[in-house]
Amino acid sequence: MKVPKDQGEPNRRVLIVMELLDSSKKIASNGVDLFLPLVREPTDVEMGNLRNLGDVEFLEYQFEEHEKAPTLEDLLGFMPHYEVIGDIALIEADDIDAFRIGEELLKFHPHVNTVLGATSPVVGEFRVREFMLIAGLDKTETIHKEYGCRYAVDLAKAYFTPRLSTERERILSWIKPDDVIVDMFAGVGPYSILIAKKANPKKVIAIDKNPAAVEFLRRNIDLNSVENVEVIEGDANVEAQRFAGIADHVIMNLPHNAYDFLDSAVKLTRPGGIIHYYGMTHEDDLFDGSIGLIGMAAKRTGRMIEVLEKRTIRSYAPHQYNICIEIRVI
Ligand code: SAM
Repeated sequence: MKVPKDQGEPNRRVLIVMELLDSSKKIASNGVDLFLPLVREPTDVEMGNLRNLGDVEFLEYQFEEHEKAPTLEDLLGFMPHYEVIGDIALIEADDIDAFRIGEELLKFHPHVNTVLGATSPVVGEFRVREFMLIAGLDKTETIHKEYGCRYAVDLAKAYFTPRLSTERERILSWIKPDDVIVDMFAGVGPYSILIAKKANPKKVIAIDKNPAAVEFLRRNIDLNSVENVEVIEGDANVEAQRFAGIADHVIMNLPHNAYDFLDSAVKLTRPGGIIHYYGMTHEDDLFDGSIGLIGMAAKRTGRMIEVLEKRTIRSYAPHQYNICIEIRVI
């Protein structure tokens, strides 16, 4: 649609409202008139309405396309697997294209300063990985932002994954004001701090055995200006003994061996309180085996359980799933 230059803007807006403007093409000009690209030929009625707006003409015109920024896939020829934590991107170090991926990630994500390659899976009691530098600044420490919270973490010293962000929000939705929460495996604090910041709990008791994770947990409490988080460095089974019957919610985010801590979790839970139990289970027995273990732990202390929710969080390995079960302990 050709319009005099000084009538361009009102006509452009009308075309947007009428869903006629083709935003994939560039608006052109001959110095006097503007040429507005349309997605289709307007009907006679539409042309009549548009002509009423001013000095408008309809004609064939060869428009230029808007240049689209190339995607990472365009740059590399394939889509790499990676995740971004703060200003660090993580890839697998054994990828044959690791260094090319690293260079392109730095260019593609302007806020990424470091690309690390994981040289080990998540291992050991403290659930950490080993890394090598692939590109950018040589560092493993960063600050990750999530749901209005900030988490400082050294990825070589403490566990953290942004992949559980939606899951943390889900747990948050269970918490009521004035609840007492025990986060048995708190890490650098993504559950404890989110809850302390957003749910107005009476208290969050955050336990972790990894001294480095606890150091970052304390830093993150300051970074997020949260109160009501009591930090405990120690073994969850030992520390739980001090807080028997206190918890409205017990969070057990140690999926590979949370079952070793079930007696303590039951002990921590007040009558009617809820355990959020994480596990890694086979697709042939996603929930029943775990529910059986929780039931036996409850029975040992003369308690009963009621299953409230069963959920698959994510696929972990072929046929293996990260699951969460919400159980009320009566
Ligand atoms: N909840 C945190 C998160 O979402 O980032 C951390 C989860 S990570 C899978 C499990 C954490 O449990 C690690 O930080 C590890 O140091 C801690 N841990 C392992 N064994 C423990 C124990 N016996 N007592 C307390 N914490 C332990």
